[in-house]
This record gives sequence, C-alpha cells and structure tokens, in this order.
Amino acid sequence: MSDSNDTQNESTETAAAEELSEVDLASDVWVFIEEHAGDVMAVSWELLTEGRRLADDLDEDLVALVIGEDVDDVADEALERGADRVLVADDPVFEPYRADPYGTQFREMVEDRMPGIVLIGGTHTGRDFAGRVAVPAHAGLTADVTELDVDEDGQLLARRPAFGGNVLATIVCPEHRPQMATVRAGVFEAADPDPDRLAELDDVDNRIESAEVYVEEADAITEVLERDVGDRADITDADRLVAVGGGVEGTLEPAVELAEALDAEVAASRKAVDEGWIEGARQVGQTGKTVRPDLYVALGISGAVQHIEGMNDAETVVAVNNDPNAPIFDHADYGIVGDLFEIAPQLAERLEGKTDPEEVLQ
Ligand code: FAD
Repeated sequence: MSDSNDTQNESTETAAAEELSEVDLASDVWVFIEEHAGDVMAVSWELLTEGRRLADDLDEDLVALVIGEDVDDVADEALERGADRVLVADDPVFEPYRADPYGTQFREMVEDRMPGIVLIGGTHTGRDFAGRVAVPAHAGLTADVTELDVDEDGQLLARRPAFGGNVLATIVCPEHRPQMATVRAGVFEAADPDPDRLAELDDVDNRIESAEVYVEEADAITEVLERDVGDRADITDADRLVAVGGGVEGTLEPAVELAEALDAEVAASRKAVDEGWIEGARQVGQTGKTVRPDLYVALGISGAVQHIEGMNDAETVVAVNNDPNAPIFDHADYGIVGDLFEIAPQLAERLEGKTDPEEVLQ
C-alpha cells in the first residue's frame, strides 16, 4: 500500500518537475505579425511596441513571427520597429490565409522553441487560429485582452473586461507555457519604424531566421475558391470617425453624408448597435473597439463612461448634442449644442473636401 503511495507521489513529483521545467525553459516574447498580401494589420505593430516593453521588463528577446509569402519587407520592418529577431515562415501555402496551415505552422514552431509569451492581434485571423495553437500545445490563451503587464515572477498578467464589461479580470497562467493572448486592436500605440535601427544592426542577416515550413499544400484540408471580403471597414484603422448614438433614432443618413464629406468611417455607440441600426463591428467603447482617430465626431451620443473609454485617445473630438449638460461635452474639444439633424448637414456642406482637421474645424 505504502509502495503504491510512494510510486504515486514520485510520479506526481516528476510531473510537477516537468511542468516546472516547462515554465523555467520558456523564454522570449513573441509577437505574431499578421500580413495579408503585403499589408500588415496595424494591431501587429501596436503589439510589437507593447511586446518591446514586456521583453525589456523581463530581460528577454522580442521575436517577431512572420508567416506568409514573399514577406522579406515585413521582416525588415519588424526589426525597424524594435524586434530583436524575426522568425519567418515564407511559403505559398500561407497565402491566402487559411486556419489549418497557419495553425499547424504556428503550433509546430511554438512546440519547437517554447516561447514564454505569445501575443496575437485579436483580429478575425488571430482569433481564428490562436485556439489551434493553444489547445494542442496546452498553452494558456486569454482572448480579447486590453491591458498587459508582467509581475515580479515574470508571469504575464493579461487583463480583459469580464461579466459583460462590469469587471476587469486579470488572467494568469502559472503552470503552462507559452502564455498566449489575443489582444484588442487600438488599445496600444504603435511606435514608428526607425530605419536607422536596421542600418545600425551589423548582424541583420543573423537576426532574420528562415524557419522550417512544416506544412505542405497536400496536407491542407481547406482550399480557398473565392474571397468575398464584404463590408470590411475597420474603424480602428480610420483616421476620422463620425459616430452615431441614440440621438440619431435609427436615421443614419446625416451621419453617412457627413462621413463622406470628411472621408471618414461611421462608428457607433452601443445604443445604436443594440437597437440594430448598425453592425456591432462599428461599436466604440468598453465592450466594442478602442479607436484613436485624428478626428472623432459624436452625433447624438451622451458620453457614458463605457463609450468614452473607447475613444478618449482621439486627437480632436467634436460633439453634437441637443442637451447642453450631456457628459460628452466634458470630453470634446468642440461642442455644438443643437439638433444633429440640422447641424450634421450643415457641417457636411461646410467641410466637404477639407483635409486638415484644424481647417475642418475653423
Ligand atoms: P443615449 O444614452 O440614448 O443618448 C443619446 C444622446 O443623444 C443624449 O445625450 C441626447 O441628449 C442626444 N440626442 C437625442 N436626440 C438628439 C438630437 N436630435 N440631436 C442631438 N442630440 C440628440 N456603450 C458604448 O457606447 N460602448 C460600449 O462599449 C459600452 N459598453 C458597455 C458595457 C457595460 C457593462 C455597460 C453596463 C454599458 C455599456 N455601454 C456601452 C452602454 C452605455 O452605458 C450607454 O448606455 C450608451 O453608451 C448610451 O449610448 P448613447 O449615448 O448613444 O445613447
């Protein structure tokens, strides 16, 4: 009896030691650079900047992971933007994106090299394949993260809104590596590329490593026959936004016309989304998207704290509201008290074709 207990204890201890060593062995901060036909998603560069901060705190290397076809320029740019090293899996099998080749390639690389932290943009692509890596690799994956940090033990603290946005939960993964997170676009600021950095690195060739490609076309279980991108407006990428709220009462025309005059995208408060006036992908706020446009025009939006959280970093905010006490005015650079149905068309007429926000608001 005691023998079997001893054996059981020993195997538990061995398992614990193995898990501990997994944690000890893992190193480096990886950031997935999402690229489609030459275009890199802005969130990837945002994460590379944030990854730089975490890697410096941990005294680890920051590694950019690039998967795609003909991605040399992307690898160079990753170095210009602060990566210590770039791992490149370059093969036609990765263009256009499919979850199974990406997921397999990513998982093999993770299992081979055991990074400590892996950050992936919370895009359609990132959310599509991250689980294919995390589940078989027994990694911890936190989705839709809005804040990142590390504690004194070097553990990733991934924070995200939980319970419908009422609390901010901090998720840790103490026993398995890597610690993975898909991160919301727009919450971090991307540093500009520094071409001098590339010129100053005397060992650029050693810093860009061609990774083994583990996937063959014959292994792929999907084939892309046609792509229909539909309405892919990304409000997190837009320099200008005209956002609609409860005040528009389902009539979007004034906002759409103003957006056209300003060459802006249309965004929305949760009220407008909940009412079914506009799709959820355009929602700004705590449970929507975080945006940092040069210009944010809020039409009939009250300025609830959950909305402000998503647009507080806009460069210039213009608010139109018929209630002079609406909280949105506390966050606006320019406030117009009045009926949006009268004011938005006047703004559209006056602003048509103007490009400089300052000129726009004279
Ligand atoms: P309303 O509250 O209906 O305000 C409409 C405004 O329009 C009013 O200020 C009114 O004076 C003005 N108005 C009316 N008619 C006119 C007119 N003709 N001309 C000019 N002005 C007019 N909200 C978000 O936006 N994003 C989020 O991500 C989000 N997440 C949330 C998470 C949680 C957990 C909770 C509890 C709430 C969340 N909310 C979010 C909801 C938020 O609290 C507010 O209810 C919502 O933002 C209100 O939207 P609104 O200001 O557009 O609408």
